[in-house]
Amino acid sequence: MGYNRAENVICLALGSTWTDCSWKNILFSRCGQGDTRELWDPVGEVDRMGDPFRAHAGYEGAFMDNQEKVQWLGKILSIQPRTNVWRYVLDNRTHSHIGYNLFLDGSVNGINAQFAVAISEKQQQCGGFRIGDFVKGTAWTKKYPGWEYADYYRAGALKRISEGEETTEDTSAPPWRTAPPDMQTYEWRGARMLSLSCWKGKCFQCIWANMANVTIEYEWGKSQKHRFESFCYGPKSCKVYKMGKPRNVPYKGRGSNYDEGWLDDICTERRGEDD
Ligand code: SF4
Repeated sequence: MGYNRAENVICLALGSTWTDCSWKNILFSRCGQGDTRELWDPVGEVDRMGDPFRAHAGYEGAFMDNQEKVQWLGKILSIQPRTNVWRYVLDNRTHSHIGYNLFLDGSVNGINAQFAVAISEKQQQCGGFRIGDFVKGTAWTKKYPGWEYADYYRAGALKRISEGEETTEDTSAPPWRTAPPDMQTYEWRGARMLSLSCWKGKCFQCIWANMANVTIEYEWGKSQKHRFESFCYGPKSCKVYKMGKPRNVPYKGRGSNYDEGWLDDICTERRGEDD
């Protein structure tokens, strides 16, 4: 399932939950902002993008004061958990679970587009949205470009226009295209790094795939960097899974620090191979 995002998603971060993959209990929850044309490709793997922050050049810390309310409608291509991740060198990787991203093929203000809209857990519970449903609603453009993967957030007036067709596909094999679980489930499971090519390809419609808004503590209390990273909350035994290359987590004056996967082990230590 291909997906080519347009320029612009939705966020009502209600009752976020989080998973702290370190010995420190640091709660991080931010309802951030998204990207621009340059940010279209998520920075899921450092090796793919070269400089992981390249796409954010000129947007670091910037905000847009011309937010606009939009009307959108479209067919749901994928529903994934919406998360914020806070990284501090290799000491901490904290995942906050704040809602869902709906990936849609449809239109925004009447213009055809593929786009993502952030919705809250409550909105998903009320709507019971599934892949293939036609839905519509309102949302707002983002205030802080570079902090939020979704194109629009603060979604409202959500309405299902029509239900997707029932499928007869095997739901015991990946990718799992069933109704997504609640935030507590994602939090309990924890995530492993997922290669960007998997996220964009076979994993895109899986309920366990995730594109996170990542904040890196670059100089404690003074400077942060932002990027997007792909993760998987699915079974460790999934045959589709590929971690991809280790990810650099820079800190001022300390050179390179690569997350090579042992934080994944900590994040997912509660479950076995097939859970
Ligand atoms: S690797 Fe993860 S996201 Fe991809 S199909 Fe398997 S469980 Fe789903």
